[in-house]
Amino acid sequence: MSADAQLRADIVEVGRRLYARGYTASNDGNISVRLDAARLLMTPSGVCKGFMTPDMMCITDLEGRKLAGDRNPSSEIQMHLEVYRRRPDVNAVVHAHPPLATGFAVAGIPLDRAVLAEVVCTLGSVPIAEYATPSTKELPEAVGKYVKAHDGMLLANHGALTLGTDLFSAYFKMETIEHFAKISLVARLLGGERILSREEVFRLQGLRGHYGIAAPAPICADPAPGSPADCQVVQAPSAPGQRLVPDYVAFPEDLAGTLARRAQMAGSVPADREIRLTYGELTALIEDAVKNLR
Ligand SMILES: [Zn+2]
Repeated sequence: MSADAQLRADIVEVGRRLYARGYTASNDGNISVRLDAARLLMTPSGVCKGFMTPDMMCITDLEGRKLAGDRNPSSEIQMHLEVYRRRPDVNAVVHAHPPLATGFAVAGIPLDRAVLAEVVCTLGSVPIAEYATPSTKELPEAVGKYVKAHDGMLLANHGALTLGTDLFSAYFKMETIEHFAKISLVARLLGGERILSREEVFRLQGLRGHYGIAAPAPICADPAPGSPADCQVVQAPSAPGQRLVPDYVAFPEDLAGTLARRAQMAGSVPADREIRLTYGELTALIEDAVKNLR
């Protein structure tokens, strides 16, 4: 089988799996791969991804112009092109609407808490790209902000996007995000996650090199508000000597209690000890508390 034929068959298979797992409904979602340095193979618009055949795919250039195929490329082609332009290491892009991850995207809750060691090692965090009208230029702009540092992200009030060095790695990241969302939801229903300490997160980051896990950017824990999106922001409170800490944002009885608890977690200081916070830290604490009062 030629490389072109194999990639067409792989897209058909991944589309079938996305649909079978309920990650797409009706004609949702789109998939693309690099054929070579100048051409992409992409799913067509207006077809169910569970029932595609290899001949349905379009070939486009990196500007989105159709070079071959009976059908038009996906309406989200600009989002895919944005990824390929910004990430030369990426050879495949998968977009779907897996319901649990999309639920987090609709609720405005990123999957950025350090709770599963394997997710920390591989994806780091899964941020939410700001809401943008599908198929418009806004969507590639919103996604572009996070693409440099992330192989997986949620799209606010829309779905999820994953990238990979090959098609199956992009697809498996979609599975990981949905699985992570399911586990996070169950943990919150059961009273909230216990969170990996910042020290444990950095230990896990060290394992990336040991196991040869390629990540587009390093992990950074709770950076100052407004910092550039060039690292993977993971919520992980500092707690020297501990690997797990209680959920420090799930049960804010009141603002003061939350501030005190968060400050205690941040520095592992006794509750009655005076601590000093920067304006940025205080703002972040208040934002956390307000988010949880809703
Ligand atoms: Zn979509």
